[in-house]
Amino acid sequence: MNWLIVLGIFMLLAVILLILNNWQSKIERVQKAKLNSELASAREDGTSQPLAQHPQIDIQACIGCGTCIEACPEDGVLGLVDGVAKVIHGSRCIGHGICQDVCPVQAIEIGLGDTSGRSDLPQLTPTLETSVPGVYIAGELGGFALIRLAIEQGIRVVDAIAQELKDEKNAEGSVDVFIVGAGPAGFAASLRCLELGLTYKTIDQEDLGGTIRKYPRRKLTLTGPMTLPLYGEVQREEFFKEELIEFLEEVQSTYNLKLATGIKLLNIEKNTENSTLTCHTSAGSMEAKRAILALGRRGTPRRLNVPGEDAEKVLYQLVDASTYQDEDLLIVGGGDSAVEAAFALARQNNNRVTLSYRRDKFFRLKKRNEEKLQSAIDTGHIEVLFQSEVLEIEDRQVLLNVTEDGVERQQYLQNNYVFVCAGGEPPYPLLDQIGIQMGSGSSHEEFEEETTSEQDSLVEEVR
Ligand SMILES: Cc1cc2nc3c(=O)[nH]c(=O)nc-3n(C[C@H](O)[C@H](O)[C@H](O)COP(=O)(O)OP(=O)(O)OC[C@H]3O[C@@H](n4cnc5c(N)ncnc54)[C@H](O)[C@@H]3O)c2cc1C
Repeated sequence: MNWLIVLGIFMLLAVILLILNNWQSKIERVQKAKLNSELASAREDGTSQPLAQHPQIDIQACIGCGTCIEACPEDGVLGLVDGVAKVIHGSRCIGHGICQDVCPVQAIEIGLGDTSGRSDLPQLTPTLETSVPGVYIAGELGGFALIRLAIEQGIRVVDAIAQELKDEKNAEGSVDVFIVGAGPAGFAASLRCLELGLTYKTIDQEDLGGTIRKYPRRKLTLTGPMTLPLYGEVQREEFFKEELIEFLEEVQSTYNLKLATGIKLLNIEKNTENSTLTCHTSAGSMEAKRAILALGRRGTPRRLNVPGEDAEKVLYQLVDASTYQDEDLLIVGGGDSAVEAAFALARQNNNRVTLSYRRDKFFRLKKRNEEKLQSAIDTGHIEVLFQSEVLEIEDRQVLLNVTEDGVERQQYLQNNYVFVCAGGEPPYPLLDQIGIQMGSGSSHEEFEEETTSEQDSLVEEVR
């Protein structure tokens, strides 16, 4: 009798184990199918391709523990496919590098991978010199995002230049280094020139701080450990945007760092007789022995090129949504920056917010933005006009061309402000003109409308 009970229990356990096993396999199959379809849709939407540094996974070493996936603060960058970590939405990676730090078997390295086919990344030597001798690139333009890395590269490039210039004869009337851009990379490069006693000229089409200045009000900025030339180690690793700008301004004034703001670089030409560079800017030309392009990748905001666009009511960035209350607002664009601007404006008192997008659906949006947008549409907080284009901007209204079910119509919308969040025009044409070769071995090919810039979330409170 007893052995019958034992056998019964044994069989029951075996059945339970079998059920659990089947159940687990089913869950794994569903998860795998979900991830594969996510990967396929990321490829279709173009978000699988990383834009800057991203995890390089050694699949032989990966043990599929998923620690990297849990640790990544961004949404859906990594997933487990066939038991190993894989980059799913590569373009959402902004290079935090936490996945690399937490991997228990060191199977992840953050880098750019094979850039030979990338027409958006310049070909660079290990000292960050471009294919045009004497012209260097530092910071995000070279493909590495993050303030800390931009600073490190700015310093590294100047060190390499200082080595080269040691044995070079003085070319009369030229500065040692011409630096373009006063974001973190150009700022650090300028400080390093000062520290090493090199003559320099730094210009920026805007102002000190670069992209940081464009962050939303009070954005928490994580810099990580940084060391600035002359100043030394920066004690803090977290700043509000305004504090970080203030800090940079303080350093600038303490060391009397000269910046020429509001000046745009137009071209650089190599002089064959004395191997110097002529740097053409909106304020005239200047000779330099070396040039550093620290232009970032955000470029100039893309314009709509429609009548009325020069009016003061047309803005290319939303810094403080609370300034707009009880207004009729139109946001143009379909990237994260556009929808986040729409959220921020829709949260204010009594605003009527419309989002105009030229395509028939959103793609490349962060998942949480996609979900939030759907609920804002459902609750009537935001109206979306797909397949629409602004034709004209007037004082109190805008004229749009809207296509619905294949039929085009023109529609007026009451309007007080237009926010154009249609991405930036990256500085690739300028690089082309200078003669800089891109990773693909050719000059840069035209990019689709949604560039890095449009995917960046400029109205996110905390990244
Ligand atoms: C919303 C957002 C949040 C972010 N948060 C963080 C964060 O928390 N921590 C972090 O480490 N990184 C963060 N980043 C990334 C970081 O801001 C960038 O990696 C960094 O600013 C790159 O520095 P850079 O000097 O290479 O370029 P930029 O900061 O982009 O500066 C480039 C400068 O070049 C100038 N310029 C461009 N073209 C010309 C021209 N033709 N002539 C003259 N001047 C020109 C521009 O005006 C600009 O001032 C964030 C980025 C965004 C968009």
